[in-house]
Amino acid sequence: MSGLSITVIPGDGIGEEITRAVLSVLESLDCGLIFEEALAGGAALARGLDLIPEATLHRIENSAATLKGPITTPIGQGFTSVNVSLRQHFNLYANVRPALSIPGATTRYSNIDIIVVRENMEGLYSGVGHVVSEDGERAELRSVVTRTGCKRILHHAFTLARRLGRRKVTVVHKANIMRSTSGLFLAVSREVASQYPDIETQEMIVDNCAMQLVMNPHRFDVIVTTNLFGDVLSDLCAGLVGGLGLAPGANIGEHRGIFEAVHGSAPDIAGKNIANPTALLLAAAMMLDYLHLTEPATRLRQAVRHVIGEGKTVTPDLGGDSTTQEYTDALLNELGHERCLDRKVPAAAVKPGSPRSKGQKQDLQLPSR
Ligand code: NAD
Repeated sequence: MSGLSITVIPGDGIGEEITRAVLSVLESLDCGLIFEEALAGGAALARGLDLIPEATLHRIENSAATLKGPITTPIGQGFTSVNVSLRQHFNLYANVRPALSIPGATTRYSNIDIIVVRENMEGLYSGVGHVVSEDGERAELRSVVTRTGCKRILHHAFTLARRLGRRKVTVVHKANIMRSTSGLFLAVSREVASQYPDIETQEMIVDNCAMQLVMNPHRFDVIVTTNLFGDVLSDLCAGLVGGLGLAPGANIGEHRGIFEAVHGSAPDIAGKNIANPTALLLAAAMMLDYLHLTEPATRLRQAVRHVIGEGKTVTPDLGGDSTTQEYTDALLNELGHERCLDRKVPAAAVKPGSPRSKGQKQDLQLPSR
């Protein structure tokens, strides 16, 4: 029993449904995690709290890791995205988004295995310089990229590639047009790549990369890129392996990790009990790896592959007609448990100074090739 404290933010839209499913699966793995709920986004606003209450920041600060459901960001309003704010607050500079084919999921391609490593704090998402002129005619947004920011994300990608036995890193940029920002990223990538002679490096302009990913995805291994390009390309990669319902992500910094699905709050299917919890489940498996709980992480991935591979109990996004609950029950059955209890996310007390809460760097393990 590890007794590690995990902050759980259920989030908005389908967040509550998929978080409930994931927690019942995690509990069935019996790896001694202690789950503590925290509020953010719409759920916090509905209770008269800030979008990200101070108590939530404190709880994340004092946990071993955080599992976060999707959070709605109203489009074009004066809202700061909760997701972006959390990444900035905890210095979560690396967004790691694997796209791995799961046999049984209906897709255009099989055997896709791509990891997108996205810079998570700079560029057009840094929130600097949002200006709309008074007459509504002109809008501006500044993109800020630093040498330090480029260096750490590039090192993160190359180190990850080396650790996982990957052979190639594709550096994706638009330095032909965005000569300052993307130009700096590309220049730093050449310096960093020279320190990893065992890894093949390829440079690719982002528009070509989008086309190549659709035409010939098997030529990609690890992709590293700036914030906006990484956001778009990782959704494209999710589409290659069966859609957003299967795409997990990890936000990693020096001392913290927040694990979430790539997808958003899916308001179109919220409350219908048909959301696919697999993306958040696979994000939970990444969290277990990060906590060095590799055995339960492997069991979780195997159960997902087995149930989806069988194809009998899958959600509508994968061509099935099962509910979130039925799919979760099939996973629990596969893991040797009876059924998904109608559980609620627990709201336990914060435990400051919990194990590995401060100052310890943890590794993100992902399955190697
Ligand atoms: P979305 O990812 O919520 O949904 C896109 C499409 O994918 C929808 O048709 C949806 O039904 C489907 N989908 C998504 N997740 C699914 C799942 N688990 N199972 C089955 N189908 C699924 O994108 P959107 O509609 O553009 O965004 C909705 C909200 O989510 C916005 O407010 C956006 O800002 C927010 N968002 C949050 C995050 C995050 O919290 N990390 C990420 C992306 C978008």
